Amino acid sequence: MKIFSIAKDNWASGLDRLAESYRLFAPVKEAEFHNFKELANGETPDLNFLNTRLSPKAIIYPQTETMFEYSLDESREDHHIMKEVDNSYSPQAVIGIRPCDAKAFLLVGHNFDTPEYKDPYWIKAYESTTLVGLACDSPCSSCFCTTAGSGPYHEEGLDILLVEAENQFLAKVLTDKGEKLVKSAGWDTAADEAEAGKQIETAKQAAEAKINAFVNTDKLKEIDTVELYKAPFWEDASFSCINCGTCTFVCPTCWCFDIQDENHGKSGVRMRNWDSCMFPLFTIHGTGHNPRGTKLHRVRQRFMHKLKYYVDKYDVGIQCVGCGRCVRSCPVNIDIRRVCDLMNSYKTEKDSCPA
Ligand code: SF4
Ligand code: SF4
Repeated sequence: MKIFSIAKDNWASGLDRLAESYRLFAPVKEAEFHNFKELANGETPDLNFLNTRLSPKAIIYPQTETMFEYSLDESREDHHIMKEVDNSYSPQAVIGIRPCDAKAFLLVGHNFDTPEYKDPYWIKAYESTTLVGLACDSPCSSCFCTTAGSGPYHEEGLDILLVEAENQFLAKVLTDKGEKLVKSAGWDTAADEAEAGKQIETAKQAAEAKINAFVNTDKLKEIDTVELYKAPFWEDASFSCINCGTCTFVCPTCWCFDIQDENHGKSGVRMRNWDSCMFPLFTIHGTGHNPRGTKLHRVRQRFMHKLKYYVDKYDVGIQCVGCGRCVRSCPVNIDIRRVCDLMNSYKTEKDSCPA
């Protein structure tokens, strides 16, 4: 592992060099919020942000993506044959991604890249992307990353970790992809590794000490799934939900989608669009029956999926990195930290029986 020193004076020129071989995505301020956008020629990232309003998941997993195209023109030999579209997967880099959001791609990968099922769209986009993280020195009050398998200086899922230090960035290179990117940018000034390593460690501890929101997850795996599903607290937990879907759209670890065919005259495309388990239409059957017909069903599904089914199925912790976006954006203040505590501390009838 190497640490490079990038003088802030060399930052913009390095990005210009990178733009010759990568599409660059970075936080940009739009109206009052920062979001990840593809940088236009000569545009530089605005790194003066806590976290973006939307997660950067759309860079790998677009909100709307064309998967196949087909012709309905029966005079053509290939009519009604689905053909995979030739999407571009040229190298791209996400500059300034927060460590929690980079870790989120690893959690999502358990769904899109498994030994049995490979999603070529997600995998090709992920493999062509280099993630340049920006350590988080001012976490939001709603962040609880350190107890959700991540942290403000967490390195898992990143190719480079950038740490801002006065007039320079320290760039800790974590993978071959990261090494290739620093070379392409011409950021080749090696830092004194022992000194820089100490500086990063001190800053990391200071950042972690600022996180004052936590979740307890230690009991989730052992609690009986059916008992938890039937727990009475779901009525109260879901009462104020308006099923707007905001929590799932802002979340870096939510992956629900819907597939639609769209015809235009005699040609058509098959598209994948983000969907949300919080919408009634997500599960409605052709018969009109809806197995998740009430908001209690839907809110329970969201939390059971993230905090119980995922834990049981993959055994890699919860399906949440503690970015706090759903906490900040929910219009009725439904808070995953509270629901997680209700779930983790739930006592089934069996638990309360004297031995
Ligand atoms: S953001 Fe809040 S109100 Fe909207 S669907 Fe999610 S939990 Fe319900
Ligand atoms: S569930 Fe909420 S806190 Fe967890 S990763 Fe998703 S948006 Fe962030």
